[in-house]
Amino acid sequence: MKCLLCQQPLQPKISFKNLIRLDSKQETLCQDCFKTFNQITAPYCPTCYKIDQADSCLDCQLWERQHLPVHHFSLYSYNDAMKHYFKTYKFTGDYLLRGIFAEEIRTALKPYEKEYQLIPVPISSQTFNTRGFNQVTGLLDAAGLAYSDLLRKEHTEKQSHKNRQQRLQGAQVFHVNEKSDLKQRVLIVDDIYTTGATIQTIKQLVLAKGAKEVISFSLAR
Ligand SMILES: [Zn+2]
Ligand SMILES: [Zn+2]
Repeated sequence: MKCLLCQQPLQPKISFKNLIRLDSKQETLCQDCFKTFNQITAPYCPTCYKIDQADSCLDCQLWERQHLPVHHFSLYSYNDAMKHYFKTYKFTGDYLLRGIFAEEIRTALKPYEKEYQLIPVPISSQTFNTRGFNQVTGLLDAAGLAYSDLLRKEHTEKQSHKNRQQRLQGAQVFHVNEKSDLKQRVLIVDDIYTTGATIQTIKQLVLAKGAKEVISFSLAR
């Protein structure tokens, strides 16, 4: 086995846990790569998990002012290692990389699975045709979580080529698929949370369609 990110050979670890758990997950990442990711720890923004914020961050304050409160949680900061990970996963299409954070995502979202309907942020059909997979459902599949893939995204210009202002203004158009069984409590799942604009757009959509409580999660913030 080689590390999925840097290709260095993985040292198989024989631990008691691995010996008694036959279903134990194969290691996919070397310790050197693993250490480069920054798990979010306090202090962070209480409503969106942006790190190094003792109080509500500027993004959340902006949403609050528009009477659009934020209720988001996240696992890792969007540092260089995370940027590199998503670049490799999304843009070079290395689908195996969906599983690197499977256990962490499962641990974070499993408690919500019963009470909340997990809804992944969709990609447009054009992006799907280029990439071959939705990176968010990839993460959820790897984590073994049940979700409802009931949103559709209209094709617009590539988000990553826009600056912050353009992203905030640029209308991302989503739809709820007809005949979808939308539940009262919804947990929107995304890969990266930047300004919160995507989540807010979807949140307003599902609230208008009858959801009563909407919270959100992303692997990176
Ligand atoms: Zn590595
Ligand atoms: Zn915040």
